[in-house]
Amino acid sequence: MAQVTLEGIRKVYDNGFVAVHGVDLVVNDGEFVVLVGPSGCGKSTTLRIVAGLESLSGGTLKIGDRIVNDVPPKERDIAMVFQNYALYPHMTVFENLAFALKLRKLPAAEIDERVRKTAEILGLTPILESRPKQLSGGQRQRVAIGRAIVRDPQVFLFDEPLSNLDAKLRVQMRREIAKIHRQLSATMIYVTHDQVEAMTMGDRIVVMNAGRVEQVDTPLELYDHPQTLFVASFIGSPAMNFFHGTIAGARFVAAEDPGIAFPLSAAQAGRLAGFDGKRVVAGVRPEEVRVADVHEPTSSARFTLQLDAIEPLGNEVVIYAGGQKHDVTVRMAPRPLPEVGAPIELTVRPERVHYFDAETSRLLSSAE
Ligand code: ATP
Repeated sequence: MAQVTLEGIRKVYDNGFVAVHGVDLVVNDGEFVVLVGPSGCGKSTTLRIVAGLESLSGGTLKIGDRIVNDVPPKERDIAMVFQNYALYPHMTVFENLAFALKLRKLPAAEIDERVRKTAEILGLTPILESRPKQLSGGQRQRVAIGRAIVRDPQVFLFDEPLSNLDAKLRVQMRREIAKIHRQLSATMIYVTHDQVEAMTMGDRIVVMNAGRVEQVDTPLELYDHPQTLFVASFIGSPAMNFFHGTIAGARFVAAEDPGIAFPLSAAQAGRLAGFDGKRVVAGVRPEEVRVADVHEPTSSARFTLQLDAIEPLGNEVVIYAGGQKHDVTVRMAPRPLPEVGAPIELTVRPERVHYFDAETSRLLSSAE
């Protein structure tokens, strides 16, 4: 296995469009790194550059200690699994798995051993003699992953490999890929637009936006300490609530409703020194907005909105309050269900608020 190093990677397509604006990233040996971001953010282009399927317009790409900028894909010792995996329909599972090794002219006994070992890891042993059309979607995807494993590459690359599977199978395959990663201690780079997939699989996550890296961190660091408004809004479902407003004295006051005001803790006031009168964005996770009750500390901010909609999910209820003006999302205990259309008093503990600079979108003060 090997480390993958991207230094100032740029991609300008022939039409002049800059898809990747200079990405710096080190994927450590044996690490599982997920590139995540909305459609068009450049994550697939970045992965395809690592695979050698796209040329670089600038920067340096290393696999291990070797600079591979101009090394053809076949000689990079990587294996890639795509969303649209094409298995050979006329070959059995065994033959599909063995194909790349046969091309390499490995001895038959070694091919047999490697295929059987891979089949064992993926639970494909009972279906080695089946053909792809006899398999379920999940089994086919496992064969596609098996074709990568059997080659014993230095690096595995995955481009949205689970997008074609139904929701239940995706959850199952997520666990399987994470398990394979642990078993093989393999270096893996995985691209997805699905933040839940990213959060549940990655050792570290690279959040991309418009061809740039916004933040690289572990899943929980991204959730707890998003460094930009983009990361704060992209990671977490339901998404973080945002209030645009200003700092006035030792308080944040929402622009559209002075009734929504969060006092600043001493630490927050320190970090926001110099922002008095300036525009900031306050961010509060849905589980940090609570329905007011007698246990709420007196230091909490309180405000009353109208309850617009509820989503009873069984284990929790997501409620939407305040209409178009605020649209505050709250995650709360499943029962008793609140009443739609009624006013609801909500509270926020001041120390649980993130503050971002409205001009630069950068974090000013993280929740404590
Ligand atoms: P998706 O999940 O939709 O694939 P992505 O984040 O993987 O999104 P890329 O496929 O990397 O995005 O594309 C990044 C940007 O580059 C997009 O705006 C896309 O339209 C553009 N792009 C991709 N290929 C080309 C090309 N051959 N010529 C010009 N622009 C391209």
